[in-house]
Amino acid sequence: MAESAVPISTLPYPPVHRDKKFVVLSDWDGTITTFDSNDYLTDNYGYGKEKRRQGNFDVLAGKMTFRDSFKEMLDSVVVNGHTFEQCKDILRNNIVLDPGFKEFHAWCKANDVPVIIVSSGMAPLIRAILANLIGEESANEIEIIANDVAINDNGTWAIQYRHPSSGFGHDKSQAILPYRDLPEPPVLFFFGDGVSDISAAKHADALFVKQKEDGENDLASYCIREGIRHVLFRDFSQALGMVEAIVKGTQTVEDVVGPHLTPQVQA
Ligand SMILES: [Mg+2]
Repeated sequence: MAESAVPISTLPYPPVHRDKKFVVLSDWDGTITTFDSNDYLTDNYGYGKEKRRQGNFDVLAGKMTFRDSFKEMLDSVVVNGHTFEQCKDILRNNIVLDPGFKEFHAWCKANDVPVIIVSSGMAPLIRAILANLIGEESANEIEIIANDVAINDNGTWAIQYRHPSSGFGHDKSQAILPYRDLPEPPVLFFFGDGVSDISAAKHADALFVKQKEDGENDLASYCIREGIRHVLFRDFSQALGMVEAIVKGTQTVEDVVGPHLTPQVQA
């Protein structure tokens, strides 16, 4: 399903951090938050968990693009009559941050490591949840590279993809690759958990994959199948120790994420 052409972005990017030794890029839903907000909406207000999981599996198996599967999920919430403002309220009341993220973010800020959210979700929802959880000021400091939303006069809404021509909708590799072209590229950390991170997985120096108690370890399954080295993390307080070791030079990337893996042979 990977598409080699560089997709045209319909939305702007923040400037590349040119002079940093380390940069953190992280998925938002289910990674910085404990539960994926779009999954939450779909499972409870859209067509339900069973169909949503089938969509995730179809994406993993390459039977459907993430772009089309994700739009179906969100459209099922719209069809059931939920406005975008209602969705914002639902998520403000139900989505919480990873218990270690605030401290992780503060440490990165103090150590000159930019943290950029790279999400397939819609930026206005992310900002609303983030402001609710860490305050407006801190929320505004964090860069967000995500998709957007179009809201119609009749209250219906639809996701607006950053890369409509890409099967990923938002090809997250496009947030990472500009760093590779810098004269002195930083070490790139990427944090993720699910099918929305497939486009980013192989482009990070150190890939952190969030462990899931509910068995929805889609990014881990993908990495194992494709032979992409990664390290599992439970929450950001645990990840902070590993990032700190690399930044301070007490451990190498290889020490933390291990050697490159061999892809599993498809039967
Ligand atoms: Mg996610």
